[in-house]
Amino acid sequence: MKKQIIVVASALVLSGCSVSSADNDKHVSTATPVSQKEIQSKGQVVFKDETPLEEIRKDGLTVVSDPHSITVVVNKERTLPEGYDPTDLVVPDVPFYFDEFLPKKQMREEAAKALEELFAAAFQAGEDLVAASGYRSYDRQKKIYERNVEVYGEEETNKFSAKPGTSEHQTGLAMDVTSAEMSFKLDQSFRETSEGEWLANHAHEYGFVIRYPQGKDDITGYTYEPWHLRYVGQEKSTEIHNQSLTLEEFFGFTP
Ligand SMILES: [Zn+2]
Repeated sequence: MKKQIIVVASALVLSGCSVSSADNDKHVSTATPVSQKEIQSKGQVVFKDETPLEEIRKDGLTVVSDPHSITVVVNKERTLPEGYDPTDLVVPDVPFYFDEFLPKKQMREEAAKALEELFAAAFQAGEDLVAASGYRSYDRQKKIYERNVEVYGEEETNKFSAKPGTSEHQTGLAMDVTSAEMSFKLDQSFRETSEGEWLANHAHEYGFVIRYPQGKDDITGYTYEPWHLRYVGQEKSTEIHNQSLTLEEFFGFTP
């Protein structure tokens, strides 16, 4: 028997899978460009390839300058711009643990196609993956975060709930995956199942990485999530997998 306990609570607690936040929205509109010197003094990245200067908001978060890029890096320090919403969301043709349409069935088109290929290959290998949660809007994240703040207070909430704008699920490039054996829960014991094992070894072949690897909490800001897939394209995912890196390390955004 596998543990089936933590589930929804843990999903909320652990991750980028979790929802998030509030008080930044009041700061968003006050974002102002800062000088390269100021950014460097905070240890932040200034230029990433040819992308423009990134901004640091008054709440200390860096606003990503490339939210539409499939290689965008979003985490507790790096937020999507206010109002960002992917424009090419579709529902991938893969099994979900629920039937009705919910926004969380969606992913950006390129990621959705790749996910279909990944699921087909897994099925061929005898693995029955089930999709659980993909895209999540800023507004939904904000509502959940604010509800948590009401119940737990802001300080406690920030320990387990991402602020709106900082969840990778808002990019439309992430999908949480589980299985019937897991009773469709999101739990670290997924890694010990046949499906979790297959995913760890083959996700990169289809353009995905396990976004929050074991033992990299201090870099990603999240504990191990063997169920959270992030699409970055096959070339990058293969390099990242082969070098056992996080997105932060690969793209040069380490703390
Ligand atoms: Zn997730």
